[in-house]
Amino acid sequence: MPVFTHAACFGHDTGPGHIETPARLGAVVTALRDHVPGIEWLEAPRATRGQLLRVHEPLLLHAVLETAPDHLMQLDPDTVLSPGSPEAALRAAGAVVAAVDRVMAGEADTAFCAVRPPGHHATPAHAMGFCLFNNIAVGAAHALERHGLSRIAIVDFDVHHGNGTQAIFAGEARVLYASAHEMPLFPETGNPRERGVGNIHNAALQPGSGSHRFREAWRERLLPAIDAFEPQLLMVSAGFDGHRADPAAHVELEADDFAWLTCELAGIAARHCGGRMVSVLEGGYDLAALAECSLAHVRALVAIGASGQRAPPT
Ligand SMILES: [Zn+2]
Repeated sequence: MPVFTHAACFGHDTGPGHIETPARLGAVVTALRDHVPGIEWLEAPRATRGQLLRVHEPLLLHAVLETAPDHLMQLDPDTVLSPGSPEAALRAAGAVVAAVDRVMAGEADTAFCAVRPPGHHATPAHAMGFCLFNNIAVGAAHALERHGLSRIAIVDFDVHHGNGTQAIFAGEARVLYASAHEMPLFPETGNPRERGVGNIHNAALQPGSGSHRFREAWRERLLPAIDAFEPQLLMVSAGFDGHRADPAAHVELEADDFAWLTCELAGIAARHCGGRMVSVLEGGYDLAALAECSLAHVRALVAIGASGQRAPPT
């Protein structure tokens, strides 16, 4: 299975004491290298301006790419721009574009993007919540425009609501967005009443929900909606900050919950999209839990690819 990453993603420096550290990516890459045989490691290309402008306004490209700080600069209280950030942001978004191309070309069923900064909070015009560009949205827009798809599901299991992804696609009926996230919690969006053009599906989880309520929300509400949408490509915002050891949230999940959901999603992908899944790292701030959970998720993706559980694309 291909895993896209790039050394430049370590060069996004968030400063001392920030939880979104380069060590996060190190934990993920080390876990996958040491424990998952058969990964094809690929260098992420840079996203192009044209690919970014499908979902972002020119002023955000200017803010991230052309302000070129020689020191750390706060874009908001959580979000930092460093000298290495422009290259990291371009590679993180470019990874998802390349993963989409790879899977759409039939060269792989599944692909994972081990990248940072994360992306799902970045809105059309603003970097926020540790995110500079919305990596998964850039990839999804590429799949719409370059590959002519008409039904893409973006599944977001990060513990925070992907307000940026929702904002980008809330008026786009060709993209379904489904998220289960802790509420109340940053960024305070994601109320189940937010429905877009009927393509937005939000499930709110209370603090302390645990595995049972998490799985119930997916099994009873979100997975049936994704299945009914019959996506041609399934994309995953894979954030692992719902784990009980994570300092950012309180839904108290276990690594097995992420493996379980990955397998459920694979069933939908097998039924509707020829098994095509592209997964992208989002949050996860306890290094040991992040390594354990990303390993559980990627192992499930690899097993799916190896099992050849495919159905003809519709
Ligand atoms: Zn998160």
